Amino acid sequence: MSKEKVLIIEDEADIRSLIKYNLNKAGFTRIETAESGLEGLEKAKEIIPDVILLDLMLPDIDGLNVCRKLRKSSNTNDIPIIMLTAKSEETDIIIGLEMGADDYITKPFSNKVLVARVRSVLRRHNEYNNAAEDAENEQQDAQQMYIRRGDFTIDLNTREVTYKDELINLTYSEFEILYLLARRSGWVYSREKIVNAIKGDGYPVTERAIDVQIVGLRKKLGVAGSHIQTIRGVGYRFVE
Ligand code: CA
Repeated sequence: MSKEKVLIIEDEADIRSLIKYNLNKAGFTRIETAESGLEGLEKAKEIIPDVILLDLMLPDIDGLNVCRKLRKSSNTNDIPIIMLTAKSEETDIIIGLEMGADDYITKPFSNKVLVARVRSVLRRHNEYNNAAEDAENEQQDAQQMYIRRGDFTIDLNTREVTYKDELINLTYSEFEILYLLARRSGWVYSREKIVNAIKGDGYPVTERAIDVQIVGLRKKLGVAGSHIQTIRGVGYRFVE
């Protein structure tokens, strides 16, 4: 059973009920219908469906305009839209896709095609949302001003590192390496990855230079230097 809400905007009663029947059979239980463009727009705003099946030939506002309005409003702009069209409406299909519709089905369509398209659009949409969420989390990580790992505090604003409340003076690159490794403690970073991550300081960094930096970093960290482990033949990692 699918929890997703489907909105069908279609003026022909037969087609409307046929779509509803078939989606229902396929496990979609939350289905709303609208008989006109205006009603469709209102329902879309009210229920915020997960997918909209939109007929292009509607009696009041045509489907293309419904699509345009849905895309314009911030509440409905990312709801997947599948256009329902006749084969002869090819130009409209192209315009619709350009306006932001996600897919189209030409009438008459089989039940199989209908269900497959709905599922495919929903899947793509969910994948996209998950990716966007990941990016957001990543951004929050970046905005986090300091990280704590055991007795370490690494402050990004002041670029200060303390271990057991004692300040450790690091160079730009040493700080970058420690931050990179500690941010995901336990993860192994190859020298190449470390080079790529700290390139930003404008100095030439080679893989060999990373080894030198690590030696320097460990020296400054003293006993805490053992938190940076060498993984032979691979690179380095931070362990808590
Ligand atoms: Ca129609």
